[in-house]
Amino acid sequence: MQQLYSPWRDEYVKIDKKLINDCVFCDIANSTNDDTKLAVLFRNKNFFIVMNRYPYIPGHFMIVPNFHTANLEDLDMAVWLDMTKTAHKLVPLLKDILKAQGVNIGMNLGKAAGAGIEKHIHLHLLPRYKADTNFITTIANTRVYSVDFDKIYKKLLQNIKNYI
Ligand SMILES: [Zn+2]
Repeated sequence: MQQLYSPWRDEYVKIDKKLINDCVFCDIANSTNDDTKLAVLFRNKNFFIVMNRYPYIPGHFMIVPNFHTANLEDLDMAVWLDMTKTAHKLVPLLKDILKAQGVNIGMNLGKAAGAGIEKHIHLHLLPRYKADTNFITTIANTRVYSVDFDKIYKKLLQNIKNYI
């Protein structure tokens, strides 16, 4: 089996319309009436949280600032602290609700670092399981997965407010 040396990959929701800043994250930031369709879990004035539609681990979500920038250093410190404080609170969400045995948190800054959408920074959180490489191989690209996506999204959505 191929070694999974990158703990996450960047693939995102697809939106069929003209994008603000030509950026899917700016579009989600501004599409506040489509949260269910876009699989948004939470919003506040600084950021939103959205599921990764094409993860290799179901339950992968991202904390995305409402501010469009490719550079972490250009992000307002208060926004960054709010995002990381939220990540701190959401690790137990993954452990409690999705029974994660481990959690990856991280950012890919720039294309060289593996960013799929390099122009708008975002913080990844994903649950990990001891046997998740087998899990991925078993369920990737199957019908089972799309059923699981909605189930997992709803489960997280129902619980996230108790953690933030
Ligand atoms: Zn953007």
